[in-house]
Amino acid sequence: MRFYPLQPQDCRQLKLLMNNPSQHQLLPHSLDDMPSNTIWLIPEKLVPLGFSSTPANSPFQTHFNQPQANAWPEIHLDFKPGKGTTIYCPRPNSNHSINQELKQYLNHRQLLLDELPFPLEEIHQHACHGYLTYEPGLMTKNGRPHCRRCGNHDPNLFASYHCYRCKQECTYCRSCIMMGKITSCSPLVRWLPNKREKRTAASPFTHPSQRHHQSNSELHSNPNHQSNSELIPNRKPDPKCDPSPRHTLAWTGTLSYFQQKASDKLYATINDFLHGKNERNTFLVWAVCGSGKTEMLFHGIESALNAGLHVLIATPRTDVVLELEPRLKAAFPNTKILPLYGGAEDRFGQGDLVISTTHQLLRFHNAFDLVIIDEVDAFPYTADQKLRYAVNKAKRDRSLTVFVTATPDGKMKWQAETGEILSVKVARRYHRHPLPVPRYKWVGQWKKKLAKATLPIPIFHWIQTHLTTQKQIFLFVPSVAVMHDVADILERTLQTTVGFVHSSDPDRREKVMAFRNGKTRVLVTTTILERGVTVKGVQVGVLGSEDRIFTESALVQISGRAGRSPDAPTGDVTFFHYGKTNEMVKAVRHIQEMNRLGDEELALESRKLREHNVKEQNNNPTGVARNLKK
Ligand SMILES: [Zn+2]
Ligand SMILES: [Zn+2]
Repeated sequence: MRFYPLQPQDCRQLKLLMNNPSQHQLLPHSLDDMPSNTIWLIPEKLVPLGFSSTPANSPFQTHFNQPQANAWPEIHLDFKPGKGTTIYCPRPNSNHSINQELKQYLNHRQLLLDELPFPLEEIHQHACHGYLTYEPGLMTKNGRPHCRRCGNHDPNLFASYHCYRCKQECTYCRSCIMMGKITSCSPLVRWLPNKREKRTAASPFTHPSQRHHQSNSELHSNPNHQSNSELIPNRKPDPKCDPSPRHTLAWTGTLSYFQQKASDKLYATINDFLHGKNERNTFLVWAVCGSGKTEMLFHGIESALNAGLHVLIATPRTDVVLELEPRLKAAFPNTKILPLYGGAEDRFGQGDLVISTTHQLLRFHNAFDLVIIDEVDAFPYTADQKLRYAVNKAKRDRSLTVFVTATPDGKMKWQAETGEILSVKVARRYHRHPLPVPRYKWVGQWKKKLAKATLPIPIFHWIQTHLTTQKQIFLFVPSVAVMHDVADILERTLQTTVGFVHSSDPDRREKVMAFRNGKTRVLVTTTILERGVTVKGVQVGVLGSEDRIFTESALVQISGRAGRSPDAPTGDVTFFHYGKTNEMVKAVRHIQEMNRLGDEELALESRKLREHNVKEQNNNPTGVARNLKK
């Protein structure tokens, strides 16, 4: 798309020259407050042909009769007020009748002009009347391109081509190309928030039906929310408290002691957020693999939804969206849940609860009050960075972000420890058994062996031992090349079914399914597979665990594949290495520390239970209070 950029003085001059009311529709309805450092953009396609026959010295000639219109103008855009050039947004014209369908379509979103199924005239009309604005898709920062949709600023992830729209060399972003090409000449369109039209959830955060009768203290004494020490396994929505909750939680399962603790703390954090109490807007749920993360979120999500908040669950993976959708739909039958992933049916729809992959999230802008980031795994790290950029763009200025992860990065751990962010640890799995602690096994120069088409003896031995007891085996390796070699060797030497899979394998799903239902006994793989690959009694090996790709968090996640099932809660995790690395040691310590914490909390839980029973028997609360203080 090409645009004519007009300075304020040009707009004024043109406005005087335009007699025909239809011509007025190219310019802002009001120029009264157009600052000098702003420009106005007129799409080339909308400029009437008649303008070219005007006198040579008129502004029409200057602006519309050039041999070439400008592509997206090369302007330095800095959205901080008073800096750089910005695009003028006139105040909304309340006399203009807006197209509700267009408004709905752009609700909380920032879309490419091409993604809008509305005529350009109509879109531009809404810009003229102060309801929407164009923003550049790519901009230049210190001479380097920067994608405003996905945050990419790696020069290697941009390319240029001869563009059919601006008819010149045009740069585009390769990083988010699967969302539709974003080029130097493609504007993003955003609906402008109407400052007079305040959201119901913006200040008093309770559901409209609750607002008049539910005070802060009442919320805290809400029977839906029992404190942990009362040892009540599950809360059920209480109809007395809110006569007409729009969103009801239909899930009736029981939370473990550990899940309950996290659930309570999340609920309290959301409550504080609703009442503007906590300045810290990040909450970390540090939960070990297999702890039942989703269920811990239910009560928090329910309260947020009923308070009118827009809730997002963001994840880097489509698999997770597909897995969460049916579970959340079953848990919240009255809630409009919108799953977003590449290939989803309704990618431009609206929902109270949105579950989205990183890329689909890039279409949102200033949309969510509660953002739950389900970091299934922290690697690859770039995927993680992208997700955070997308989340920052999609969340509201005042919002609460909840990270749910088994492996927070160093910075986040530090923030949690120093209290800079709020946090809770879930140190034990749902089935209450400790995490299997990895063992180290030195295997010498395994790469040399591999070159001779064989593997170190201890690996064969380890696999054989587990196969004889009917166990399945996950063998992680550092690269696709190693994966193929190892799978070949195992296929030749083992009397069993061997499969291999890597993250971009086109048959990944089928292969994982074959492993899950036991058809494949040994699966050689490069990266962490899907979450919820819960294969009963699976044993986990990492060949070449000294490789750089196996970071602490990767190794913790990999180890977390073992012992997930309540029927087989233990498992063997072995790091086959040629020299112990710091990351390996850190991973083992991480797991040991979580186990220690879990033991401690279980001891505390049983003590509390005993005290609770004593209290029941003696009905002597002062004695209990003294015991609790110890
Ligand atoms: Zn172009
Ligand atoms: Zn991009």
